[in-house]
Amino acid sequence: MNVKEVKELAREKGIEFFLCSFVEMSGAPKAKLVPASHLEDMARDGGGFAGFATGEIGQGPHDPDIASIPDFNSLTVLPWRKNTAWVAGNVFVNGKEWAYGPRNILRQQLERARKKGYVMNVGVEPEFMLLRRNERGEYAPWDALDKPCYDLQALNRNLEVMTTLVKYIQELGWDPYANDHEDANCQFEINWRYSDALTTADRNVFFRWMVKTVAEQHELLATFMPKPFANLTGNGAHYHVSLWDAQNKANLFLDEKNENGLSKLAYAFMGGVLRHAKALVAVTCPIVNSYKRLIRGAPRSGATWAPVYITYGGNNRTQMIRIPAPGRFENRIPDGAANPYLAMAALLAAGLDGIESKADPGKRNNENLYEVPEEELRRRGIDFLPATLSEALDCLEKDEVVKTALGEEYAAYYLRVKREEWRQYHCSVSAWETDHYLGLY
Ligand code: GLU
Ligand code: MG
Repeated sequence: MNVKEVKELAREKGIEFFLCSFVEMSGAPKAKLVPASHLEDMARDGGGFAGFATGEIGQGPHDPDIASIPDFNSLTVLPWRKNTAWVAGNVFVNGKEWAYGPRNILRQQLERARKKGYVMNVGVEPEFMLLRRNERGEYAPWDALDKPCYDLQALNRNLEVMTTLVKYIQELGWDPYANDHEDANCQFEINWRYSDALTTADRNVFFRWMVKTVAEQHELLATFMPKPFANLTGNGAHYHVSLWDAQNKANLFLDEKNENGLSKLAYAFMGGVLRHAKALVAVTCPIVNSYKRLIRGAPRSGATWAPVYITYGGNNRTQMIRIPAPGRFENRIPDGAANPYLAMAALLAAGLDGIESKADPGKRNNENLYEVPEEELRRRGIDFLPATLSEALDCLEKDEVVKTALGEEYAAYYLRVKREEWRQYHCSVSAWETDHYLGLY
């Protein structure tokens, strides 16, 4: 969409304001509010920001402003305030594309894939919890069923928020199709149709903000934090992935005759994802808390449903990669804290490496991996995902393919920022430690 078309659309739809937006490393959207009377300036010069103040975007307080140049293809009229439209932007500094802009990084990988004749399509399954303050003033689930997954009564208690969100998504034209109460208390998931990776990444960013907004309007806190409560399953954000031809018309992962419905290309891509899984996880599970989700110990409802081992299977949720239907696979690693631009860029690079090297993912695994003893898994040569952010960062440091996908400069920055996050966390002493050690030692 060019400026002229946006102008017409604004007139037709009564758009009076734009939220000129972008994300830094955390993936939380930042924005400037621009009146429609300055649409042309915004299109040309972007929204200007003191980069350092926005978060991790590779700047100090002395650096020149960053400009978020809007990509009008992402234009989204706010369903709850129809005179305002959100638009995702690409970050520039001094007229040059900025190496520290997550959206730029994904666009570069997508361009690389396009040159090889591929379009990556992704469907995301964001999980979130709707929390209320308890009598102690803490945000907590306000429902205590032992088996809350798909529970009708628990869904019914949240029907106002859920139906509002689904209606909004329908209005946006994203085609929502399935929405449920998930496996943790007060946890939900909304699914809409897949798109090309950039569109899905933009929508994922917008979606998280929209859910938080609607929840706030109902005096609830929506969180996508990967593991807010130790005794409940965490918030995943699984990616359903397929490569299509350059016109985005034919699914190159589909082979109806194959036992899993996947083509040779899909197996090679999956082989690449398995090969690079230990480094990928540093990007798809980017925070200290992420690794508390990726465990085997069962929470209250009976399973974590989150991956621990580097395997693929059929329609089997104990595997890192699940194949739920012909023509696509589900990568179950990403969580609610993943910056979708960075996570998709890293995933694509891993898959392309698999294709280039004709990686073989081996035979699919059919077991309940949470039940096989770990010694037995080791004996079979099944590898484990990193158990902490620190371990994952060490794996990222050693993985040239994933680092190249982020850009050498950004990868080094990412490692620095995340190691500092780990260091700060490691400086804290938890209740678990005092419970276990204070009396004993
Ligand atoms: N909540 C689980 C996770 O952390 C996923 C549950 C599901 O399969 O939908 O990944
Ligand atoms: Mg789910």
